[in-house]
Amino acid sequence: MHSQSFQRIASLVTTVTFILLWFGAPHMFAGQWKAGFASTVITPSTPTWMAGYASRNRPADGKVNELYAKSMVLQDANGTKFVLVTTDLISVPYPIRDYLQQHIKSQYGLPPESLMINCSHTHCGPEIRMTRWSLDGLPSERLKGAQHYLASLQAKLSGVINAAVKKLEPVQVTYCRSRCGFGMNRRTLRNGSYSNFPNPDGPVDHDVPVLRITNNQDVIQGIVFGYACHNTTIGIYQFCGDYAGFAQEQLETSYPDAVAMFVLGAGADINPYPRGSVELAKTHGKTLATAVEAALMTKQNSLPAKLTLHYGRATLDYSDAPSKQQLTERSQSTNSYVSLHAKRLLKQLKEQGSLRSHYDAPIQTIQFGDQLTLIALPGETCVDYALRLKAELGQPHLPGRVWVAGYSNDVFAYIPSRRVLLEGGYEAGDSMKYFTTVLQHGPFAQNVEERIIRKVHELLKTP
Ligand SMILES: [Zn+2]
Repeated sequence: MHSQSFQRIASLVTTVTFILLWFGAPHMFAGQWKAGFASTVITPSTPTWMAGYASRNRPADGKVNELYAKSMVLQDANGTKFVLVTTDLISVPYPIRDYLQQHIKSQYGLPPESLMINCSHTHCGPEIRMTRWSLDGLPSERLKGAQHYLASLQAKLSGVINAAVKKLEPVQVTYCRSRCGFGMNRRTLRNGSYSNFPNPDGPVDHDVPVLRITNNQDVIQGIVFGYACHNTTIGIYQFCGDYAGFAQEQLETSYPDAVAMFVLGAGADINPYPRGSVELAKTHGKTLATAVEAALMTKQNSLPAKLTLHYGRATLDYSDAPSKQQLTERSQSTNSYVSLHAKRLLKQLKEQGSLRSHYDAPIQTIQFGDQLTLIALPGETCVDYALRLKAELGQPHLPGRVWVAGYSNDVFAYIPSRRVLLEGGYEAGDSMKYFTTVLQHGPFAQNVEERIIRKVHELLKTP
């Protein structure tokens, strides 16, 4: 045969083989993903004050289990990287986000949309104080403790990202989900106002979304799972990851090669019930881990190695600010939290000339091809956001492919829906006096929900 014709036929055979492989055996290309996981203990090593309950009057005196920071670095077929950091901490203060954003930029040239940080919101973790108002009036011993912890925390958070990057290897990524029922709405109308009491008729989000990441030997390397429920089974004086910590612990026991990462959903108005003991936190953790294991038994939906990442800000207005005279009156209140909040606002007024009129809150979307959309919302996010976004963005032929995380990237206040805001109560604005990372005078304006939802649609370019 003439050598040119031979080459032509050989090239045709190669092309046909390639096309057959491409269309006939998509699993052969599923390895286009790469992922790396890492985990590090962040339990304070010295007596440290705890975060979550303002009434605590002394530092922690031990631990039930370790607190962790964990990282997943996921890389798609084009080399686009997504860095997820989860923590057994009360909050994600914006300076922590700024610090890690700077870290991934300087070390890896990654943009802000590549980073998502979520906290489990355990109320048995250390306090994190690093801004003007969170340090205001802090006794020097407590200040020293906070600074000491912060320095080690920052090093560990950047270190856990670096460790995950080093472990990047070819993987398959699948998505599955199940349901879990111990989270119950906690807003109950009693005597004309909403109080913190289990409400079986209130809205909930019982979805348990799961990412399962396996290596080429089909060994599970990572399990990323979500649930929308306050991580507040307990409020003791010992460090503990609460139900989310126990759930991760159980999964890492069942899958010894895996790093299990908990992503808290929009569960600001949802509590675990029953609550009040470490035993119950363990029970809820086991229940959630069992729900994840159930999800892993269902059909695994292979996610295409194509990430589309967006990060933007929604401007959230506050309602009308109180006058100087109103603040002066409040500063005389017999309620020490009300008076301290008013005194700080008076200082803010003096130092800055005005109170905050708005806050630019980060909104993030992570799309896995057209198969899964993960939305990361800021603050202590109320459940209505998850229910609305799932209804608005869900595709009938792909049920359950919208994953809404709350408590992400900047946890600076409760974020009520319009319904919760109009109903009033703790999540609507009464809680503002307890937030000090960002000092805010009162409730958000009534358009808070529209501003957030609109920004999500804008990032996803949906109509
Ligand atoms: Zn909370």
